[in-house]
Amino acid sequence: MKVIYVDNNATTMVAPEVLDAMLPYFSTNYGNPSSMHSFGGNVAGAMNEARDNVAKLIGAQPEEVVFTSCGTESDSTAIRAAIESYPHKKHIVTSRVEHPAVKNLYETLSKKGYRATFVPVDSNGRLDIDYLYDSLSDDTAIVSLMWGNNETGVVFPIEEISREVKSRGILFHTDAVQAVGKIPINVAETGVDMLSLSGHKFHSPKGIGALYVRKGTKFSPFMIGGHQERGRRGGTENTASIIGLGKAAELAAAHLAENGYERISRMRDRLEQTLLDRVPNAMINGDPANRLPNTTSIAFEYVEGEAILLMMNEYGICASSGSACTSGSLEPSHVLRAMGVPFTAAHGSIRFSLSRYNTEDEIDVILEKLPPVIKRLRELSPFWKEAMGT
Ligand code: PLP
Repeated sequence: MKVIYVDNNATTMVAPEVLDAMLPYFSTNYGNPSSMHSFGGNVAGAMNEARDNVAKLIGAQPEEVVFTSCGTESDSTAIRAAIESYPHKKHIVTSRVEHPAVKNLYETLSKKGYRATFVPVDSNGRLDIDYLYDSLSDDTAIVSLMWGNNETGVVFPIEEISREVKSRGILFHTDAVQAVGKIPINVAETGVDMLSLSGHKFHSPKGIGALYVRKGTKFSPFMIGGHQERGRRGGTENTASIIGLGKAAELAAAHLAENGYERISRMRDRLEQTLLDRVPNAMINGDPANRLPNTTSIAFEYVEGEAILLMMNEYGICASSGSACTSGSLEPSHVLRAMGVPFTAAHGSIRFSLSRYNTEDEIDVILEKLPPVIKRLRELSPFWKEAMGT
């Protein structure tokens, strides 16, 4: 059975060009980039090229890019660097819809003497910006807000917010793990001090990420060790994956430049609109006007998301009932709860996230298979029968 993979916010396929670029760094080019000999030096040269490509994708200078092991490490590094750099400041700000990489760190810090503000969102997942600005004070060490939401795709107005936060002399970090490679990003034109990205969300391998740190930003390393990454992250570099990340960044930049996401968003819109037309009591979670081009979260009322996933799995369709990190739990996700999505809708919410490897034919298969799945499940659902008075 052919797999129809529409779970690209969980992870993506490694692009064939990325794998090809990486392979020599496991075999013939296995040198250590810190070595004095040219066998290692050549690897350092290739890593610099990768750094250039990652920098170009986000509008940074190459020396502002620090390679890390993943998006989670980038987030932790940024937030911990901020509180270490400003030890007298005890207030930290984020939103209620962040990925656990930020949310759980803030919760941990709030048990260790920090005052954490979790800014609310409205029913469309839009940030309450006035609440955010009202919460800021001289005691605020950092504001960390995601650029694009992993579950709903809702995009926060990061350029506008970062400028305002910066004008108040407060550090600004953005978790752009879901946004990088999907929408144009230029850190030089925003006030962003630090930005996290993760390779496996845009067709490079799992276990490689980067943190952008604006030149002049106070910083202290999370991983203390050797002089790698200009002393900002100790540890021998994951050279093959760094080369892969560089190639993936080059491909993503080319794809963005040729407006490749227009095709993806057209497919997403057709999937979404046709499902809404064919399935009663279905609705979109999140502001349709401000979303990542590849993501839709659709609530099918009075059915269990997990049951939908299992039945779609029978047809080879891979989607998600929420964040990959929260699936397995039957609690509605914290993102949908923060938006006030009713329980009966949150439980039946499915996230479809597309990539440039999806095709119109795959969308046709989903459109053929999914509506009867929902119909069958509703026929078995006491909640649906009660709601319909049957
Ligand atoms: N931030 C967001 C918004 C994410 O979606 C994810 C992964 O799903 C992460 C952070 C964590 O990235 P990683 O899996 O590379 O640690």
